[in-house]
Amino acid sequence: MTHVRRQLAAVTAALALSVTSGAVASPAFADPRETEKNPTATGYGGAVSTVDPEASAAAIEVLRKGGNAADAAVAAAATLGVTEPYSAGIGGGGYFVFYDAKTKQVSTIDGRETAPATMPNDAFIDPATGKPYLFTTKRPELPTSGVSVGVPGTPATWERALERWGTLNLGEALKPAIKVANRGFVVDDTFRNQTLDNKFRFNTFTSTQDLFLPGGDAPAVGSIFKNPQLAETYRLLAKEGTSAFYTGPLAEEIVSAVKKPPTSGDTDLPVPPGFMTTDDLAAYKAVDQDPTHVKYRGYDVYGMAPSSSGGTTVGESLNILENFELKDMQRVDALHHYFEASSLAFADRGAYVGDPAFVDVPTDVLTDPIFGKERACKIDPTAAAPKPVSPGDITTYDGVCPAQAAPLADETDTENISTTNLTVADKWGNVVEYTLTIEQTGGSGIVVPGRGFLLNNELTDFSAVYNATDPNRIQPGKRPRSSMSPTIILQDGDPFLALGSPGGSTIITTVLQTILNRVDLGMDISEAIAAPRAAPRNGLTVSSEPAFIDAYGSALESLGHDLDPAGDAFTSAAEIGAATAIEFGEDGKLTAAAEPKRRGGGSAMVLKPTDGP
Ligand code: GLU
Repeated sequence: MTHVRRQLAAVTAALALSVTSGAVASPAFADPRETEKNPTATGYGGAVSTVDPEASAAAIEVLRKGGNAADAAVAAAATLGVTEPYSAGIGGGGYFVFYDAKTKQVSTIDGRETAPATMPNDAFIDPATGKPYLFTTKRPELPTSGVSVGVPGTPATWERALERWGTLNLGEALKPAIKVANRGFVVDDTFRNQTLDNKFRFNTFTSTQDLFLPGGDAPAVGSIFKNPQLAETYRLLAKEGTSAFYTGPLAEEIVSAVKKPPTSGDTDLPVPPGFMTTDDLAAYKAVDQDPTHVKYRGYDVYGMAPSSSGGTTVGESLNILENFELKDMQRVDALHHYFEASSLAFADRGAYVGDPAFVDVPTDVLTDPIFGKERACKIDPTAAAPKPVSPGDITTYDGVCPAQAAPLADETDTENISTTNLTVADKWGNVVEYTLTIEQTGGSGIVVPGRGFLLNNELTDFSAVYNATDPNRIQPGKRPRSSMSPTIILQDGDPFLALGSPGGSTIITTVLQTILNRVDLGMDISEAIAAPRAAPRNGLTVSSEPAFIDAYGSALESLGHDLDPAGDAFTSAAEIGAATAIEFGEDGKLTAAAEPKRRGGGSAMVLKPTDGP
């Protein structure tokens, strides 16, 4: 989410500055060549949409040289690890979705982080208080810890994606990112502000102070931020493959940073250590997964299956909404149905979704249109149901309203809103939708000393308090439930739309609302992304962007919804998500779309642009 308005730092004077260790923030250079940043691009021959022009440029370069969508996606993701280091990188995890133009099949890789094999189920309980470690802006105890660090899945995901679908090897795919890490990028307000937002957490660790707070301050706007340590780490992976990450000296250093975080003495946070061992790293596997699938208005919608709740929750919402003609409704009525469907699906997500390797997840039921039809009976077209609504009965359903509901799940939402998303298409028609993250902005706050990257705090996505009936309880080796929702939609076997977003549990609503905007509400893909958002997640209030409240607030409130201005505890940004998408038109025409404003605006590019629509 770190949205840095970057410029290409291709000026020799800047490059000539001596780089001793860690990052160097140098003064602005004389003649900056600004990377153009368009939220929409149309054309042919390949396209990309990310939050960042350096990453989009890396993908386009790979495509131009004959690489395919998988190659370009890995190149873009690795570049985001440089320019969006607080959102994504090799210290984290994610979900990679691929449409293969030859087979017309959608496949996915689950590269989610895992819990260490010896993680106890009370790991998040502070022995000093008997209560969970605090997770507040003032006391970010749990997020700033070794105990929240999951075994990273991103390097394995890149390697597996290239092995299955790529034409480049990892070394080739990492080249653009290595270049950017060495030459640096220009710091903008967002990067500086996000560093400052995290100053307290980053000051907790010597390695993080050294890298992101050079001279004790966040890098100045306009200065060039280089990360030669990360360039070196990428070079190591380029040379030796990801075994150099999951085994050997780097693995040992990761374990040491987790078990004995390099605390600075400038902190009064408890920094509970983690349980990760080198065996955990050596055992990590990115998992090939079947996607979820639902039909919606004649389209085939493919999403990410559990361990993410993205595919089932977007899918169930669509199955519910399939029972209503949104396009014939007044806008407010359509939004009311969106709110209610999403809340019903969130109730089921809380009750039933976890890592399927550890708990029985009724994915087939949750994506069954009959189940959706039955859940649709719960929607009163004229009034909001009191929240939270109960989960549905997954054992007996027949498309008719059940007499009795199952008991409520006790869910606390501690997912944060960092993360980044990218969409790539190539000239052969292959498509990648990829969401990757280190959990919240700045992850655990722990930079692996000398290696230039942050470790995730993804395990905070587990429920903090153990409950044996909770599908998202802590279990050794398990993946915490995610909301990441990389989605590819086909029409008669060919791509129609690929999209995804960051935003914690609002990822699900952003993807869902964007699909509804595009498919039901008559917007083109750029309008669908730009439209104001609300995130109904079965809470007492619906977190909504101010423009959404201005437009629809009073009408929705008269139906019984309670809207609240969006904002998260750590950054107070009154916006939801940062989507990227590509729409596939007639005769190979591609429309790449990114945010026009949110997070400072994204970057859409096509290989061969056309003038206008
Ligand atoms: N940890 C979240 C998840 O897996 C993502 C965090 C975010 O988007 O900021 O769903």
